Amino acid sequence: MYYTYTYTYSLDGTVFYVGKGKSRRCSAHLYIAFNKHDTRYESYFYRKLRKLTTEGRIDEVVIEKVKEFSEETEALAHEKLLIKRYGRQVDGGSLCNLTLGGEGTSGYTHTNETKRKIAESSKGRVHSQTTKDRIAVATKSQHDDPDSAINSEQTKAKLREASKGNTSALGHTHSPETRQKISEAVQQADKEGRGKRHHEVSAETRARMSEALKGNQCAKGYKRTDAEKEAIRQRTLGNQHWLGKQHSKESIDKMGTTAFAKLPSGVIQEYPSINAMREALGVKGLATLLRAIRSGKPISKGKLAGWVFYTELEDNRIEVPEEYRDLPRSRKEAKALGVERYYTGAPCKYEHRDARYVSGGCCTCRDNRPTK
Ligand SMILES: [Zn+2]
Repeated sequence: MYYTYTYTYSLDGTVFYVGKGKSRRCSAHLYIAFNKHDTRYESYFYRKLRKLTTEGRIDEVVIEKVKEFSEETEALAHEKLLIKRYGRQVDGGSLCNLTLGGEGTSGYTHTNETKRKIAESSKGRVHSQTTKDRIAVATKSQHDDPDSAINSEQTKAKLREASKGNTSALGHTHSPETRQKISEAVQQADKEGRGKRHHEVSAETRARMSEALKGNQCAKGYKRTDAEKEAIRQRTLGNQHWLGKQHSKESIDKMGTTAFAKLPSGVIQEYPSINAMREALGVKGLATLLRAIRSGKPISKGKLAGWVFYTELEDNRIEVPEEYRDLPRSRKEAKALGVERYYTGAPCKYEHRDARYVSGGCCTCRDNRPTK
């Protein structure tokens, strides 16, 4: 069902817009008038509707269906007739309409001369991101509008026809200059060994790629949130030296030996095992205690600050060699002091009982590393 309608200013009976509609066209106008992203937003008619609304005078406007038709062509012809009767303002009449009607409501048709001018002036123009976003939204709202010209059966048929066969760069022909540019770029890429023709991959590269693709790839490129980062930070506070290490059978045996804790007051407490001591003192991990036992050094902070731990096996307490006595006992401490090295007493994976560099690595290992 199609129809023609008019917008009349009721106070003086002026008809200021004539349209041809289908389904919900009439009510859609106010929606368009306030949809900034609609391409028609700034047109004369919609500006007028907006003005009347914001001035609280929209109630003075009467929208009237003039006549109903079963054929769209009939409605279009009638619209044309009505526009001719009232006249566009540009022609000395009362209508805000931009077109003479009859060709569909979407729009104003530019003359070929105007089209050429528009094309000329938009050459080489680059839209800003804001403009691109706006165009995207406007295009979408046009697609969503069932009465929009791009949703007409005629346009759809054209599009169907056009999308047959190979559609890449459809209807587009590069200018000779552009073709020259492309050709030069391809030749340059060829010289530099880039591009399609250089897709042969060396065995070495393939091996590297295969290595890089080992393991779980699913979180690759995933950026941790600040909350996740903070959680990891909390989890890894303090010395990570023992992290992920497994206790040797020897140290597991040691855990079963009688353990002692020497309080800052000098009092010595005895426990049946390191683990029992750990539980009694409410220490979370064994690592802290084992580390303290190995170093023989008082705990530096927390509720056990100043406590010294050891076991009945004397050799479990490492004497700090003279040359390391002045070094900090943790990386954190060394960092805070601005010292290059620190000494934990723990051996590196090659069993060097040497100091470690704050920048990373056992000193023996680092100093003997072959230079390239
Ligand atoms: Zn080493």
